[in-house]
Amino acid sequence: MSQTHLLNPQSALQFIFGGDAIFTLVSRKTRTRFTYRVSKAKQGERYFVRLLIGPDNMSDYQYVGMIQDRNFGLTEKSHLNIDSPPVVAFKWMLDRLLSDRNLPNAEFYHIGRCARCARLLTVPESIESGFGPECREKK
Ligand SMILES: [Zn+2]
Repeated sequence: MSQTHLLNPQSALQFIFGGDAIFTLVSRKTRTRFTYRVSKAKQGERYFVRLLIGPDNMSDYQYVGMIQDRNFGLTEKSHLNIDSPPVVAFKWMLDRLLSDRNLPNAEFYHIGRCARCARLLTVPESIESGFGPECREKK
């Protein structure tokens, strides 16, 4: 699957908080990568963070933690510890982006699906922004 690189902190944040966003974070040094899915809760400004743990990038996700008021943390249902690499990487990424800093030695990709509804993106402008034509107006 082709992936698209998001260039600046603001477009990455817009994507992450799009509603149902799937993206991959890659370390330039080690090429370690993690794919996350961040989905908005039905109520409130809460987002659930899940980690891809299997071959199906639409369904094989495991719950990691929650973002509440833009703070990421683990909960009782978390399957990972606070010092496990996918948790450390996610926290690092979010903290940096929220303070409008780039991700040194890391690359941020969306997987070609809309950040709001997770439908496949086909229009070139949509692939670039990470939002489909209809969802772009609603974000
Ligand atoms: Zn959409």
